[in-house]
Amino acid sequence: MAPLTIQQATKSFGEVQVLHGIDISIDDGEFVVLVGPSGCGKSTLLRLIAGLEDISTGSILIDGRDISRSHPKDRDIAMVFQSYALYPHMTVAENMGFSLRMRGATMDEQHRKVHEAAGILDLEPLLDRYPRQLSGGQRQRVAMGRAIVRDPKVFLFDEPLSNLDAKLRVQMRAEIRSLHKSLETTIVYVTHDQIEAMTMADKIVVMRGGYVEQIGSPMAVYDAPANVFVAGFIGSPA
Ligand code: ADP
Ligand code: MG
Repeated sequence: MAPLTIQQATKSFGEVQVLHGIDISIDDGEFVVLVGPSGCGKSTLLRLIAGLEDISTGSILIDGRDISRSHPKDRDIAMVFQSYALYPHMTVAENMGFSLRMRGATMDEQHRKVHEAAGILDLEPLLDRYPRQLSGGQRQRVAMGRAIVRDPKVFLFDEPLSNLDAKLRVQMRAEIRSLHKSLETTIVYVTHDQIEAMTMADKIVVMRGGYVEQIGSPMAVYDAPANVFVAGFIGSPA
């Protein structure tokens, strides 16, 4: 786990600026939820943090170290996406071990980390199955397993539950919360679902049009929205 600081981060695609002077401080082990309407820049911000897009100006620090120009592999960050494509021809264990193998881990180390993560996620009975033999929720857990095995300092989630049905979504929310507790990890979690934000977050960041509108605890944002936009957004049905 690690503190994560985003300082005056901007991002432009060609002439179009999609992120404007983003300042966010995230404490060690904090669960931060980014919310805001579609197109406001949530995914782009996560991709900057992960290094999947280059930052235009500003910086991103983990544990005080500026990682904003480091290679994604050197950032100690793992990202879980909405479309968590698993490798269809690999078993659950192989899917989970793959990134370790690519990083040159020994077979022993791969085995140990995969089993450790499988224990946390209740995936042990499924390690020899193939993705097509899994339910949607189980696949989502394998996607999280792939991130956990790398033991990252920071986890990024981009709307990980939006492809799941309502019942499973409620269950997975609880699982991700308990994962956060057991790993004591720092999490930045993107959703457009206000209920998800209110129930999961230590801290909520409300974005609009590439700007941060408000940062606060769920209660603070709920009780004292900073402006009409935040009030309307938080108050609207998911
Ligand atoms: P959100 O995740 O909040 O829905 P995004 O971060 O995906 O929003 O997108 C923010 C804005 O940046 C949108 O206007 C989107 O069209 C634009 N954008 C995202 N990625 C690119 C890209 N690779 N090239 C050009 N524009 C992009
Ligand atoms: Mg997005």
